[in-house]
Order: sequence, then structure tokens, then C-alpha cells
Amino acid sequence: MSEAIIRDKAEYYARTGEQMDRFLALPPWSLRQKLALSCRILAAEGHESALAGQITARGERPGTYWMLSFGLGFDEARASNIVLVDDDLQLLEGDGMVNPSNRFHLWIYRHRPDVNAIIHTHPPYCSALSVTGQPLIPAHMDTAMFYEDCAFLAEWPGPPIGDEEGRIIHAALGDKRAILLAHHGQLVATSTMEEAAVLAVFIERAARMQVLAQSIGTIKPLDPGCAREAHDYRLKPRAVAATFHYFARRALKQDRDALE
Ligand SMILES: [Zn+2]
Repeated sequence: MSEAIIRDKAEYYARTGEQMDRFLALPPWSLRQKLALSCRILAAEGHESALAGQITARGERPGTYWMLSFGLGFDEARASNIVLVDDDLQLLEGDGMVNPSNRFHLWIYRHRPDVNAIIHTHPPYCSALSVTGQPLIPAHMDTAMFYEDCAFLAEWPGPPIGDEEGRIIHAALGDKRAILLAHHGQLVATSTMEEAAVLAVFIERAARMQVLAQSIGTIKPLDPGCAREAHDYRLKPRAVAATFHYFARRALKQDRDALE
């Protein structure tokens, strides 16, 4: 490579950002549609655990939250079966039972004004780490978004339908985007629905990578400087939206009724 075209890495980041803005815009999906698509994406990624797990998003009006009505699996989600509730889980809009397990989400929303979407699931590899008491070790470029950004709750407080469980989980999460919950599963809490869906997909892939890696050797830690750079790069909003768009297109190839 000639010396004349060697540039600072920041220039390449800036150029990539401009091109992402130009070419990778998300369709004008409503929040309800994005929530239903997130359910379908996670169903396709093996997060289904019958009726366990929840996906929620902060509503446009203060003190309101969108969520899948209880009794439906993620693969059955549609924009029309996403209901709106208040901050005591009372139904405001839509038709369906409110999921009582969403109470601990309200605790996180209350204490984290930066959080607009939460996904909690019990997928197999996160669950495998959770029952062996192992925190997540992000040690690959693809999973660097969890570097210094995934907490661990070592004690199980029981099924999260009460306020005490909400208090414990939000305190353990702190200011991070993700947490592994012992004997339970994973939770991600982010500023957008797209970011929550993408992180939920990748936390399970990170756990799968960890289980595979530990079966053949010892995990080598990432260099902290490179890991922080990769963390921030993977979480650029346009990159996250483009990844969400890819997963959503894949889900919509199976069935387009998620948007209805
Ligand atoms: Zn759960």
C-alpha cells in the first residue's frame, strides 16, 4: 500500500458512518412493529422457552410501556397483539392479558432513564452459563459489545413477579446494557428496540461461543484498548439498525404477519 493513501483510522470510521447514513436507513416501522419483529427474530434465534421471557419498550407517553400480551409465544407476535400498559401493569390499549412477569422491567425503566427497550429471555447457552454460575467472557470481536457491559447476578431471587426481584435485578444491572441472571437467563436494557434485539441475539451467540471455547481450551482475554474500540464500533446506532434490519428481513421471509 502506498504511503500516500495511509489515513488515520478515524477517517475510515467517519467515512463508514456517512455511508451507513446514506444507504442503511431502516423502513419506517412503528415501535409496535419493531417490538413484534424483535419477538420473531428471537424466536428464530432459539430464544423460545414456551411462554417465558419478555420484550418491552417504553411508550411514547411518559409512564407507558408496550409489551407482548401474555399467553403468546414470540413466534406468534404481531403488531396488533402488542399491548400498552401503565407503570402498575394496568392495560391501557390493546386486547390481551398483561404479563405479570414484566414488573421487574418497570424497575429498570424507573431507574434508567436512558433505557427504552428491555429483552429478557432464557435461551439455552445463556442458561447453561447461568446454571454453572459463570459470568459472560466477551473475548471475540463479534461479542465485544458486551466488553465491560455485561453484569452478573450470582444469586437467584426467584421468579421476578414481585417488587423485590425488580429491585435486586436493576441494582445488579447498574449502568450496563446486559446482565446474566444465575439460574435464570439473560437481560438486555438499551436505548432503542433495535439495539435490544441485536444485543439479545448476540449475548446468546457469545454464550454459545464461550461454551464451545471452554470445551477445547482456555479463553484468552481481549486487549482492553481493542475491546473498547470494538465495543463502541459494534454499538454505533446505524450499524445496530442495519443488523436489526437484516434479522428483520430474515424473519419477514418466513412470515410477513408480524407487521400486522
Ligand atoms: Zn425469566
